[in-house]
Amino acid sequence: MGLSRRDFLKRSSVFCLGLGIAGGLPGCSSKTDEKPTSKSGRILREARYYEKQKGGMVRCRLCFRQCLVADGDRGFCRNRENHGGTYYTLVYGLPCAIQIDPIEKEPSYHMLPGSSMFCTATASCNNRCKFCQNWHISQRSVDETINYDLSPERMVGLASLENCDSLSFTYSEPTVFYEYMYDIAKLGKEKGFKVLFHTNGSMNPEPLSALLQYMDGVTVDLKGFTETFYREASSSQLAPVLRTLKHIRESGRHLEVVNLVIPTLNDDMVRIREMCVWVREYLGKETPLHFSRFFPAHKLTHLPPTPIDTLEKAWKIGQEEGLEYVYIGNVPGHEGNSTFCPQCHNKLIHRVHFAVLANQVKRGRCPSCGYPIPGIWADATT
Ligand code: SF4
Repeated sequence: MGLSRRDFLKRSSVFCLGLGIAGGLPGCSSKTDEKPTSKSGRILREARYYEKQKGGMVRCRLCFRQCLVADGDRGFCRNRENHGGTYYTLVYGLPCAIQIDPIEKEPSYHMLPGSSMFCTATASCNNRCKFCQNWHISQRSVDETINYDLSPERMVGLASLENCDSLSFTYSEPTVFYEYMYDIAKLGKEKGFKVLFHTNGSMNPEPLSALLQYMDGVTVDLKGFTETFYREASSSQLAPVLRTLKHIRESGRHLEVVNLVIPTLNDDMVRIREMCVWVREYLGKETPLHFSRFFPAHKLTHLPPTPIDTLEKAWKIGQEEGLEYVYIGNVPGHEGNSTFCPQCHNKLIHRVHFAVLANQVKRGRCPSCGYPIPGIWADATT
């Protein structure tokens, strides 16, 4: 269920009153002193993971880009600004998107199927994907979006009020609002929520390790399987994503991988097979892999939607390479939406797009043959 801005303001006002906080939105938070402000007048919070350099420069260590930023400038992601040799995040407490979604939309198919997640995003991204489906927020700076004013406490309180099961950071790249995500995740775990995020996999290992202590699950985009594709279609790199995937697998957190299959750009079945082999070898055959359908968007409106036949070829290749949970996404009603037992082929979770029509998984196992199904299940400890 999505919240319109009008509904959200109404509910947020109720929530503020419930906590004894004066005022509705915007403007519930009121600490305005002793903090530098951005060019647009917003209060700033110091960023994490950066180093001061000579001449008032700073070196950001949050993502693989490691931007060197001069005084008064912003990093590549537009979300961090150098003020006199101190680096600040511009988006702390300023989400531009809040929505309640089924967890299947993440996609996270093996984590509390049929549950609802409270999703948050701020403006901007550290990639420039020509195919971005959320370009209207990811390719805008915080000065160009309409933002709420929500502390982590109020965000978690809203999720409780809406009876959500989990908190999710998604839509844009959560790395670029790391500090805000971290504080919400930490508080959310204390309040008993499951927490997950959907990422392009570009975060550096040190901040990733710190964040994962408060995460239950991660969905990672593996956008293609060549450096050329990453460079030309995303202005990015493949190697940091592969490093991140291995890191998350080693952390023991629940992991799912998504590949958006784009006609003519990354639909070479030789590369898709290489990707499937890599996932099996380095992440394990039990890792869910989603092949998602592309729809024309942003700078690729001249391309057609991905043919179903192309997705089915990728789906079959994943199965041929021994992956146990290969899915087709963005094709409502396709058999590839559902989960099947790798051992006895019993249909375990019947999905139609984001809806779960039946879930037979019992305490993390197939009820017919007892095969263990990886994931986080409501009736079992993880
Ligand atoms: S998080 Fe932003 S400022 Fe930091 S290295 Fe990445 S793109 Fe640059």
